[in-house]
Amino acid sequence: MQNSELPRVLVIGAGLAGSEAAMYLAQHGVPVTLIEGKTLKLNPAQKINTYAELVCTNSLKSLDPNSAHGLLKSEMLAMGSFIIESAKKHAVPAGDALAVDREGFSGEVTEKLHAHPLITVVEREAADPMKLKEEFNCAYVIVATGPLTSKSLEEWITKEISGDDFYFYDAIAPVVDADSLDLSKMYFKDRHKNIEEGGDYLNAPMTKEEYYAFVEELAKAEKVPPKEFEDWKFFESCLPIDLMAERGKDTARFSCMKPIGLEPDINGKWPFAVVQLRKENLLGSAYNLVGFQTRLTYKEQVRVFRMIPGLEEASFIHLGSCHRNSFLNARKLLDWDLKSKKIPELYFAGQITGVEGYTESASMGLYVAFQLLRRIKGEEAMRFPVETAMGALVNYIMTIEKPCPSNINFGLLPSIELTKEQRRGDRKKLKKQLVATRAQNVFQSFLSELR
Ligand SMILES: Cc1cc2nc3c(=O)[nH]c(=O)nc-3n(C[C@H](O)[C@H](O)[C@H](O)COP(=O)(O)OP(=O)(O)OC[C@H]3O[C@@H](n4cnc5c(N)ncnc54)[C@H](O)[C@@H]3O)c2cc1C
Repeated sequence: MQNSELPRVLVIGAGLAGSEAAMYLAQHGVPVTLIEGKTLKLNPAQKINTYAELVCTNSLKSLDPNSAHGLLKSEMLAMGSFIIESAKKHAVPAGDALAVDREGFSGEVTEKLHAHPLITVVEREAADPMKLKEEFNCAYVIVATGPLTSKSLEEWITKEISGDDFYFYDAIAPVVDADSLDLSKMYFKDRHKNIEEGGDYLNAPMTKEEYYAFVEELAKAEKVPPKEFEDWKFFESCLPIDLMAERGKDTARFSCMKPIGLEPDINGKWPFAVVQLRKENLLGSAYNLVGFQTRLTYKEQVRVFRMIPGLEEASFIHLGSCHRNSFLNARKLLDWDLKSKKIPELYFAGQITGVEGYTESASMGLYVAFQLLRRIKGEEAMRFPVETAMGALVNYIMTIEKPCPSNINFGLLPSIELTKEQRRGDRKKLKKQLVATRAQNVFQSFLSELR
């Protein structure tokens, strides 16, 4: 097929994901219409009217290929990432991290998108992607409108695509590294099952004194105040743990910390309250604190959650938070190439698919553009190996039962069992190195298969 015959793609949103997707497609000869609404009206988190704005910190996190974030960036660079290349051009000193001059970076992205002969930029707020597809004579649409997708488009997505499987607030519970838990104080058991049967849940039992001391600290700990555009409305069935503590000292004990069915505990006693931890991945290298979505500041989370028996030395893979965020239940609504199950010409990319963070969102723009380009060329969609950072992110959003946006972290990649010999040294560091090296090798062979 001659490039001039390639069908046009409509990309909605010139954020991290949309800019990445638009440039990838254009660089591969696909004409793109890119719609962005911010030049007409900034959303409450935006400050500048150029594209790919970093709305908070100017850091895209580590470049070290032995870290999960570094790994993700190295894969993106191998695929020709426009966003990471532009960020590198505007990097400011930040040790191992890729921090940028945000205006320089955003300005460069905007200029390059406008200058590309195959990209037409339209400044407009999109409300109905399928009508716009017809208007601009496009064959496919990528919606990449991010965590603060505008109201009219949110309404369209809810009505036409998602129903209740589109979420507007994100309440995240902390995740801990399994290796950092003191299992001598905890026990595996599912509610109302015998302790001898083991179970999927890891339980941390509390005495009356431990529980009340914990709840008291939760209630008085420092919280992150809501942003001006956030109007906290929590589902009663999904309240932050600190809000439960504020409501009453026994509220949590009758909710996510209830001990019923979890007795007797590891000491043969009836616990007064229990914190339940659920495996975050199949291998059990990370655990989620069930029902512990929280508004506490990061520092306070570490202090207070280390009061839980067995978590005294806990290392947190990520901490909890509550914030405004539009994201889909990808597992229910999308195929593995992130196209809509309902409208196969429609794709979603970026944070709206259920990932979290600048780099992760950009990587999902690259992933979708890669898959769509294959489709345009008449090739099958291709699953990225789960051992790679990009593959692990897609695997996460496509398999997690209760969607909960995540950054890239080693807990998403399959773990590696260490030999007896290897377990003698710094196990955590070695495990990460081995997982990172495997990811690099697997990604390289994946790419060479494509060539
Ligand atoms: C307050 C806040 C703080 C954050 N802090 C951090 C942080 O410190 N570190 C971090 O890694 N991540 C942070 N994030 C998350 C980060 O912003 C996102 O991960 C990332 O920007 C998502 O990229 P995206 O391309 O999916 O969406 P975005 O970058 O948000 O891009 C979406 C684009 O779509 C446009 N748009 C929306 N609706 C429409 C419409 N209907 N028509 C046309 N255009 C539309 C928007 O104007 C925007 O330009 C924060 C997010 C928020 C809201």
